[in-house]
Amino acid sequence: MQITKINKSKISTVDFNNLAFGNIFSDHMFIADYKDGEWSNSRITPYEPLTISPASKIFHYGQAVFEGMKAYKDAKEQIWLFRPDENQKRLNLSAERLDMPGVPKKIFHEGLEELLKLDSEWIPKGKGKSLYIRPFIFASEDTIIATSSLEYKFIILLSPVGAYFSKDVKLKIADKYSRAANGGVGFAKAAGNYASSFYPTRLAKKEGFDQVIWTDDATHTLIEEAGVMNVMFRINDKLITAPTSDRILDGITRKSLLEIARSENIAVEVRDISVKELLEANKKGELQEAFGCGTAAIVSPIYAIGYKDITMEMTQKENRYSELLKAKLFEIQTKTGEDKFGWSKQVTFS
Ligand SMILES: *Cc1c(COP(=O)(O)O)cnc(C)c1O
Repeated sequence: MQITKINKSKISTVDFNNLAFGNIFSDHMFIADYKDGEWSNSRITPYEPLTISPASKIFHYGQAVFEGMKAYKDAKEQIWLFRPDENQKRLNLSAERLDMPGVPKKIFHEGLEELLKLDSEWIPKGKGKSLYIRPFIFASEDTIIATSSLEYKFIILLSPVGAYFSKDVKLKIADKYSRAANGGVGFAKAAGNYASSFYPTRLAKKEGFDQVIWTDDATHTLIEEAGVMNVMFRINDKLITAPTSDRILDGITRKSLLEIARSENIAVEVRDISVKELLEANKKGELQEAFGCGTAAIVSPIYAIGYKDITMEMTQKENRYSELLKAKLFEIQTKTGEDKFGWSKQVTFS
């Protein structure tokens, strides 16, 4: 692999005690090119702007998919990734749906490891801090013929992030807009899914909500996701979440939390959950908790949910599942607790 190092690291300019999310990038990035039916030219370069044609298909037809994962440093300065194979597989699943070439496992992992080796100082130490990893693929062929691109780039960026102390959020149940449709691309981490969610989210924010809870596109009666996270509910002591489908993204946090919940003897139900069921549980005082889950925040508790002119408030204030599950997952990810599932993978540099 060709490696071009920066002359001088910018790491000394970064305040690691005040990291926001996703606005600081490490010194280097990994790039590979897809051309003539294969990936080649794997390389590491300084983090810098790209030169690409304005006709590149990404700008016109939106062929782009991405992943989000994190690297952690434990007390012994060892580096760990959380279920990295899942991200590699999902990237390729997303790519396939957008008629883009997947990235071979070897290129993905070798590229990531080489990049982490070079920029390992960028993995922050300390509670809740981690290095957010953003792998992505986009169409770079410079023709505006409306067909799949014949050329792509695969890039990995690294971004140190701080502890994500999100405040509890208030969400609005979608009754008009949809994030995904049957037979569509909802299960893929496609850039366009985000693009199309921004406008309805802006409208919800105008009404005083933080995000939208997406419902099924056909009837708006079934709960699907919360913002860009999967969503779980606690009714009495049952933890309920919708099954994944072609409209719901198969979140790694979601499936990990479900396994942890089962191992903690929490009653888990993976099944359709309707707006009506939430309204009824709320009326009876049985809607205890709701939370979003995803790599960035791990768990994001929801304190209220709006539906038309009704506001449902969560009743559980202490001993919340969200706190227990977040703590358990966090212990595994940061190697501060036992990893009985064997999910964390150590990164060792040869
Ligand atoms: C990325 C993402 C999630 C969360 O997936 P994780 O693997 O847990 O990070 C959930 N929903 C959507 C729409 C997403 O894009």
